[in-house]
Amino acid sequence: MPISALTEWWADMGVGMDTALVEALLKSAPAREAAEELSQSAAPAAPAVIRRGARTVIDWANEARAQAKAATTLEALAEAIRAFDGSPLRAACEQAVVYDGVPGASLMVIGEGPGAEEDRRGLPFVGKAGQLLDKMLAAIGRTRAENAFITNVNYWRPPGNRNPEADELAVCRPFVDRMIELVKPKLIVAAGGIPAVSLLASKDGIMKLRGNEYAFSTPGGFQAPVIPILHPAYLLRRPQDKSRAWRDLMLIEKRLAELSSG
Ligand code: URA
Repeated sequence: MPISALTEWWADMGVGMDTALVEALLKSAPAREAAEELSQSAAPAAPAVIRRGARTVIDWANEARAQAKAATTLEALAEAIRAFDGSPLRAACEQAVVYDGVPGASLMVIGEGPGAEEDRRGLPFVGKAGQLLDKMLAAIGRTRAENAFITNVNYWRPPGNRNPEADELAVCRPFVDRMIELVKPKLIVAAGGIPAVSLLASKDGIMKLRGNEYAFSTPGGFQAPVIPILHPAYLLRRPQDKSRAWRDLMLIEKRLAELSSG
C-alpha cells in the first residue's frame, strides 16, 4: 500500500501523520506485517494498525481526540490525560506528566517527554536538562512561576528513556493540540528534534529547523508560530553548541516582544 494512502487515511481520521511518521510507524513489526497482509488483499480499506489488547492505536487516538475535544478547561484536559489508559507507555511508567507553569502564558515550551525525575515528580523538565531550560528561559526574562508554560509532546515516560515511537506520539497528539488551543500561546518553542519534527510534520532534522520560525495550526484552527531550539539535554552533552542556543533565545525574545505588542 502506498505511504500516501496511509497518510491520507490518518488525515481523514484527524490525526496529523506525515509521511515520515507513517514510515516510522511501519517500521514496527506488527504494523509491517499487517501492511504486507493488507497490500496482498484486493482492496485495502484501512491502514496497517498496531493492536494493543482489543483496541488499536487508531481506536485510542480517536478516544483521545474525543476526550480532548470535550475538555473545555486546562484542568479538565489535565484530568482527562491523567485518567487516559490508551498510551502504550502508560503501564510502564509512574504517572502522566502533563504540564507546569502559567496557563495562558504567551510562551509555551514543548519538549519530548518525561525522564526518570519527571516521572517520579509528575512535572516536566525538573531533571538536569530542566534546570538548564530554566536558566535559558531566565536569560530572556521568563520563569515557569511567572510567564512560561511547559509541557511535552508525550506525557508518559518511555522505558529506559528511549525516544517515543510514532504510534505513542500519535495517541498523545490530540491532547497536545487541545492543550495548545486552551493555553493560546503567542509563541511555541519546540525543545528538541522530536517535538519539532512531530509538531511541524517535517522531514528536516533539528539542526536545520532550529532558529527559524514556522507556521503551526491545530486541527481546531488555533494558530501560533513555532521556533525549534536544541534540546537542553543535548546542550549539556555538547556545550560548544550553546552559542547556537543563545542566538535562538535572542530570536525568541525578539519575536515574543513583537507578538505581544501586535
Ligand atoms: N526532557 C523533555 O523533553 N521533557 C521533559 O519533561 C524532561 C526532559
